[in-house]
Amino acid sequence: MAKNNKKIKNELINKYGCKCQICNKYFEKDDLCIEHIKAKSVGGTNKKENLSLVCRSCNSKKYNYNTANFPIESFFNRPNFFLKLYEYEKKNGVSNKKLTLENIEKMENQLEEKLELLRAVKNKIKGM
Ligand SMILES: [Zn+2]
Repeated sequence: MAKNNKKIKNELINKYGCKCQICNKYFEKDDLCIEHIKAKSVGGTNKKENLSLVCRSCNSKKYNYNTANFPIESFFNRPNFFLKLYEYEKKNGVSNKKLTLENIEKMENQLEEKLELLRAVKNKIKGM
């Protein structure tokens, strides 16, 4: 298995060079990992078409999320990553603009609820 992974990784390096396919930066071989474009948790396979090459940092930021289910906390920790992840999904033919926009709208609603809460507390304190 490990040997096979090494072979797959070398094939991906031949295809992409030592370039992370999400952030587009160059890395040493050892700092790149094999990535499932469509996460296994949502039915992605181990087939070559579903494998890509990303840096450790992008791999850990992506975890097993995509832009349609990316959590709001992670979004605000890394807003630039979200955009890069969408470009990556689009480039690999797995983007779903409708679901990604729905996820952004869900995050907007969560933020609005938090804002309302904050304003209510502010107004209470003003009236004390
Ligand atoms: Zn990267």
